[in-house]
Amino acid sequence: KEEVYDVVVIGGGGAGLSAAIEVKGAGASVVVLEKMAFIGGNTLISGGELNAPETWIQEKLGIEDSIEQYKEDTLKGGDNQADEKLVTVLANNARSAIEWLRDEVNVSFKEDYLMQFGGHSVPRAAYPEGGSGDELISKLGTKVEEMDIPVRKQTKAEEILTDESGKVNGVRAVDKDGNEIIFKANKGVIVATGGFGSSLEMRKKYNPEYDERYMSTDQPGSTGDGIVMAEELGAALIGMENIQTYPTCSPVTGVLSYVADTRFDGAVLVNKEGNRFVEELDRRDVISKAILSQTDGMGYLIWDTTVKNKSHMDNYMKEFDQLVKQGTLIKADTIEEAAKFFDINVDQLKETIAKYNEYATNGKDEDFNRRGEIIGLTEAPYYIQKVVPSVHHTMGGLKIDTEARVINNEGNPIPGLFAAGEVTGGIHGTNRLGGNAITDIVVFGRIAAESVLK
Ligand code: ADP
Repeated sequence: KEEVYDVVVIGGGGAGLSAAIEVKGAGASVVVLEKMAFIGGNTLISGGELNAPETWIQEKLGIEDSIEQYKEDTLKGGDNQADEKLVTVLANNARSAIEWLRDEVNVSFKEDYLMQFGGHSVPRAAYPEGGSGDELISKLGTKVEEMDIPVRKQTKAEEILTDESGKVNGVRAVDKDGNEIIFKANKGVIVATGGFGSSLEMRKKYNPEYDERYMSTDQPGSTGDGIVMAEELGAALIGMENIQTYPTCSPVTGVLSYVADTRFDGAVLVNKEGNRFVEELDRRDVISKAILSQTDGMGYLIWDTTVKNKSHMDNYMKEFDQLVKQGTLIKADTIEEAAKFFDINVDQLKETIAKYNEYATNGKDEDFNRRGEIIGLTEAPYYIQKVVPSVHHTMGGLKIDTEARVINNEGNPIPGLFAAGEVTGGIHGTNRLGGNAITDIVVFGRIAAESVLK
């Protein structure tokens, strides 16, 4: 079977859907191939926040920011290993990306609130209604439907095809019944297949540190397919060893815990012996490593009702109930009772908390120099949650230029091949800052659409 389009997009996450909308909007025909039974990818299960400087929201809140400052923060956040040209494109186009989401795709953002993730000098992450990628994907999906863009679910791209001259001209895919379909692409192919966090094999190949000890926060479809397919055509890869973990995830499922973000509001991290072992607000990679070197490779977050009231925990009660059911979270009237549930050394934990409460009174954490306000844990009920780090984002991927063209090992663009989103490398250096992935996928998804039609 064969179908013919101007453009074939592989992957129906945020990058692929953004690209498809722009291709169709410019008057060309396009199909989206999605191997899962649903669209959205990791974009769907993300928090959905995106960074942009000089937005209407910042203006409303009176926050001073600039493209230059955003660029600087992003470069520094990736240990200055990112491709500066790509970061410049990201920063220059961030504001128009968020305005496009608002005006063309109808995404609702909180108008009077911005998040400030680690590494950013000012609050600049817009917060979609509901605080979830669901708002982005449902609106992108609606737009795609309105524009009559065909989305082929359960259709897995297996090979990117070229003509005799080496120009990319289609994709070989397999549908859910095992039928092979050739999707011809007269203008070109956009690869938007996301990262490889769910592929244990690829993680171990590129950075043996991230072996079976780690689960993943990612959806099961994030297996690096686009990287493998483009590599067959000689595509260059960049930064593949840079894999990011999120420190506080479920030890049962590996899923990122939004409840555990009480850490930002004062929760304290201890081990089974009842001792603290790291500064709770250190970098994601530092906390992750520290947890893994404790007994059983586990950390235990403890907080009280004062911290709970300060946090956004109430927004995540569905997750809360799931964690309780899993046996990875307990709420109890006393610290003893909660600690016993996890077989934590009760006497030592009480001593640790007593000492920590003194630090709170004195305003200084003598052990780990915790930054920010130190809140004593004194108000019942108490909560203890068992957490592990989990693979969250793969910074490396296909090397692209500022026009989202995929670059080969000789340094030249592969004709007809474009890529956007987590499948690409070079934009985040060694470490992606919170809120930068969504900006990346929308900015470069739209650029890929423009380039493929040139
Ligand atoms: P991004 O944030 O870069 O858009 P996502 O993870 O949100 O990445 O989306 C990538 C999408 O691509 C996922 O929905 C994933 O299931 C899909 N995908 C991955 N590999 C293939 C493939 N071989 N064929 C079709 N779709 C794929």
